[in-house]
Amino acid sequence: MSQNEIETIVIVGAGQAGASAILELRANKYEGKIILVGDETHLPYERPPLSKDVILKPEETKIEILSEQKLIDLGVEHIADNGVVKINADAKTIELKNGETLAFDKLLLATGGAARRLPNFDALGKHVYTLRNLEDSQALVPVLQAGRRIILIGGGVIGLELASSARFKDCQVTVIEMGPMVMGRSSPRILSELLLEQQRLAGVDVRLSTSIADCKLDGEEVVVTLADGEELRADAVVYGIGIVPNAQLAVDAGLDVDFAVKVNENCQTSHADIYAAGDVATQLRDCGQHRRVETWENANLQAGIFARHVMGVEHPVANPAWFWTDQLDINYQFVGDMAAAEWLVRGEINPAQRAESSFVLFGVTDGVIVGGITVNAAKDMRHLKKLISKQAPFEAEKYLDLTQDLRKLVK
Ligand code: FAD
Ligand code: NAP
Repeated sequence: MSQNEIETIVIVGAGQAGASAILELRANKYEGKIILVGDETHLPYERPPLSKDVILKPEETKIEILSEQKLIDLGVEHIADNGVVKINADAKTIELKNGETLAFDKLLLATGGAARRLPNFDALGKHVYTLRNLEDSQALVPVLQAGRRIILIGGGVIGLELASSARFKDCQVTVIEMGPMVMGRSSPRILSELLLEQQRLAGVDVRLSTSIADCKLDGEEVVVTLADGEELRADAVVYGIGIVPNAQLAVDAGLDVDFAVKVNENCQTSHADIYAAGDVATQLRDCGQHRRVETWENANLQAGIFARHVMGVEHPVANPAWFWTDQLDINYQFVGDMAAAEWLVRGEINPAQRAESSFVLFGVTDGVIVGGITVNAAKDMRHLKKLISKQAPFEAEKYLDLTQDLRKLVK
């Protein structure tokens, strides 16, 4: 099918990748029909503020990606609160919850993921929360009040960002993490240890290598029994133990799915006219394996790859993966390979200084810079990205010397 023959593009999922795909399609001169189908009642919005500013500054935080007027200006038909229940891949149609059928020439699956469940906690029926969408975040605002005892299960990004927000609201916070490190999947040990120390300095009780044996309600309290028999009591429990990609539509449609929807370098699924992007997708990488990347940037990037491929425009090679987290007034940014063999510090790690402490970490494998982290040093991130893209050899005397301007060294 040539670009001129594409009349209708349907995007399933009005989140980060869905919204970004619209902008990318129009930027790449697609003039046909775009139908955006979402199961939420909202216009597309950003999720990163849900664990941070939506809780801390609900009145002043704007999260909308595309306004109603912008969607009109972009010529998009937005169907809200009416999710897709079936894809007929051969017929190239989708069915909506209200029974309506829509035809597509190209389809983008941008359905994201859902919080992985802990059924024994869900069964308690009250005082237990997860965080994925705007309603989840708004529900936490009255829960996270001064003096309340909050247990956060999972020391990943949700757990640590919520611990930070809850401390800003003067809650008593306990984090229970099964593994030996916080953010163990996405951060090297040196940084994980710093994240842990910051949380503890802020008064968060972080329990590592700790599993939960039981949970129950006792009046309005949740009682959590740890594997060693210790009982913790809380006014509320929030758990963030990862996500499950919303891939059932693809499974039912007979597409190739391995937990997430498998896509090639063009974000095409096993059906050439059906694409997937964002948290729902697992993409074939240069290493020959499929990888899921659950970040804001990746959702935008893959949406762009989809749009360019549909329009027959060359798309750039994927950047080294980048994401950020804001915790306790500290901005952390990560790029590239977090499993680098060694990590070297430019500057000084000084946890007591919190927001005033700023430094850069270089991740080095076989003498080459493969990863980077900035702590309160966002302006240095673009230099790290360049060094990683260039596969620059690490030269300690240059890069660790604070008298040398990183910007000039990168050229
Ligand atoms: P989403 O943005 O989740 O959008 C998917 C949409 O599809 C949703 O609206 C969903 O309801 C809808 N949908 C699902 N099924 C259907 C269906 N059958 N029919 C129609 N619609 C459907 N990343 C960072 O890099 N930095 C951060 O600081 C950061 N903070 C985060 C904080 C929170 C609380 C969360 C939850 C995520 C955060 N992320 C962060 C991750 C980032 O937001 C996600 O990676 C990104 O939103 C993924 O985009 P997506 O479009 O794939 O999914
Ligand atoms: P996550 O980052 O994968 O962290 C989940 C954590 O919970 C892991 O440390 C995991 O340990 C632990 N865990 C798993 N099962 C557990 C159990 N039964 N008891 C105790 N701990 C358990 O996922 P998340 O924090 O839930 O975040 C969900 C999604 O939101 C992700 O897609 C994430 O990228 C996104 N998000 C991103 C940001 C950001 O980028 N700044 C912020 C918020 C949310 P193991 O690793 O040992 O299994």
